[in-house]
Amino acid sequence: MKKIAVMTSGGDAPGMNAAVRAVVRKSIYHGLEVYGVHRGFLGLLNDDIKPMNLSSVADVIQRGGTVLRSARCEEFKEKDNQVKAAKILRDKGIEGIIVIGGDGSFRGAERLASQGIKAIGVPGTIDNDIPYTDYTIGFDTAVNTALDAINKTRDTATSHERTFVIEVMGRDCGDIALAAGLAGGAESILVPEIEYDIEEVCQRLRKGAQRGKLHSIILVAEGVASGFEVGEQIKQKTGFETRVIVLGHIQRGGTPSSFDRVLASKLAAKAVDLLIEGQSSKMVGIKENKIVNVDILNAIDAPKKFDKEMYDLAKVLSI
Ligand code: ADP
Repeated sequence: MKKIAVMTSGGDAPGMNAAVRAVVRKSIYHGLEVYGVHRGFLGLLNDDIKPMNLSSVADVIQRGGTVLRSARCEEFKEKDNQVKAAKILRDKGIEGIIVIGGDGSFRGAERLASQGIKAIGVPGTIDNDIPYTDYTIGFDTAVNTALDAINKTRDTATSHERTFVIEVMGRDCGDIALAAGLAGGAESILVPEIEYDIEEVCQRLRKGAQRGKLHSIILVAEGVASGFEVGEQIKQKTGFETRVIVLGHIQRGGTPSSFDRVLASKLAAKAVDLLIEGQSSKMVGIKENKIVNVDILNAIDAPKKFDKEMYDLAKVLSI
């Protein structure tokens, strides 16, 4: 393998730049030529591909977003376009590609592999919704962003003795809500993996108020319900002053945490190693603090395990 490409695809996540940097520098270290595909699969179809060198990734490790840009591209689901994309890469002599993104992007990577381009997936998404990896790049930063918002909201919640419902991202995965909720001392955490009982949530609020609690914070993962819906239910059932905050896209931005930068560097470096070994259709991940790789199709199709122990602990600690 002499030439490889790297792209970021799907929703952006803090730490993607650290991953791109590691791909570029590790590849050059091993004597490979490396190309950046701009705007994900859309850019690939439009031949928006540029050679990268050591300076292309200077001063990016601390930046959120992705310098390669990202995009969604429905057309890439069509086989004709997958054939076209593989030809565009082959015509440049590019034999392998590293795709940094979520499960949708991994399906795209797998489709490229089926057209003879060696493809490796690096999990980059704030949602932490990819099986076979304990963490995805961006999750830690997103949790810290949500936590910062919880801390600030707490000040007002206490001053005004109010209940705040905070909706966080995560698609169908409750990991952001769970981690930010436990770290932020939320009274209740609503996640899609566990059915919630609004009566129980309200009962906890009433009990807290009885023992003089000044404020309450309820974290709602976006995959459960809208924060406004939950806020309205609580208001109607308890009569408590309830305010709702939807954190939204601020969770996707910002400078990546040290954890995400280190994780991105390690995962991306491993992806380069796999291409050099001639492997394809793999996803890299971190399991029990070890860098691992699995078949990309397994990673897409397997259910993501939910940390029920942590959920139960959060419940115990918020009585
Ligand atoms: P994420 O990678 O964050 O899960 P998406 O689900 O939006 O984000 O997927 C990103 C892109 O991956 C899509 O816009 C599309 O270009 C490509 N993709 C997704 N699913 C497929 C598929 N089944 N076949 C080919 N390409 C796909």
